[in-house]
Amino acid sequence: MDKITIEKLHIYAYHGVHASEKENGQDFYVSAVLFTDLYRAGHSDALEDTVNYSDAAKLIHRVFTAEKYDLIERAANAVAEALLDRYPSLGSATIRVDKPDAPIGLEFDTVSVNITLSRHTAYLGIGSNMGDRQGFIDKALAMLDETPGISVTAKSSIIETEPYGGVEQDPFLNGVVEICTYMSPYALLDRLHEIENACGRVRTIHWGPRTLDLDILLYDDLHMNEKELTIPHPDMKNREFVLKPLAEIAPHLIL
Ligand code: ADP
Ligand code: MG
Repeated sequence: MDKITIEKLHIYAYHGVHASEKENGQDFYVSAVLFTDLYRAGHSDALEDTVNYSDAAKLIHRVFTAEKYDLIERAANAVAEALLDRYPSLGSATIRVDKPDAPIGLEFDTVSVNITLSRHTAYLGIGSNMGDRQGFIDKALAMLDETPGISVTAKSSIIETEPYGGVEQDPFLNGVVEICTYMSPYALLDRLHEIENACGRVRTIHWGPRTLDLDILLYDDLHMNEKELTIPHPDMKNREFVLKPLAEIAPHLIL
């Protein structure tokens, strides 16, 4: 993919675990690789068709000096997030932070960290069968869209469905949303749990009634099977209330 690179932007800042680093500061060098399609700019010769590297460098400087972090990992991540938030055309950003005067007490050239954030497409299942069902779904959608790093890009119709899984309970409202996110699968799952909790979710019976259930159905074409997280969602292929709304917003998907 095309990219724009800013190399070794010199920034004096105050990141470090030692108190003296936060007091006196030191030199850092921040490099950014910004992946974006430059086809249009390559033909139009127009600044608005590309990422303005002068603005990007100023943004990097501002974010990198806004706080004093212990870790350059944290500072690099903050820079990567700010760039992806600011430039929707960026598919991914790699940030390298060099700290050549890190207090190691040995002779060395530099230490550095590299962090890459990329945008992903994910599909989420959303369901409710307790209390103000539509209200919980609306609140969840609003909270998702307000989350830095998540934007809701498509919403299915909300359909009413009979409960599934053998527990006697009220009918559900179900739907599916498509999101674009630079969060990792686990970070996304944590955020979904926060939203479920904010909507009064208590985990009692498995497959029992709930004010709000948010599931990760798909995350790009990732396959993972771990204790806390299985993607694609293991039971989605058996659930018409997932497949129907999914087909409505993503008819091109091949599962
Ligand atoms: P269910 O959605 O199957 O009715 P819960 O909502 O109570 O069940 O989820 C229980 C756990 O399932 C979550 O805490 C999470 O760790 C795990 N889990 C595994 N894979 C996924 C996934 N793809 N999306 C959401 N949760 C998942
Ligand atoms: Mg769930």
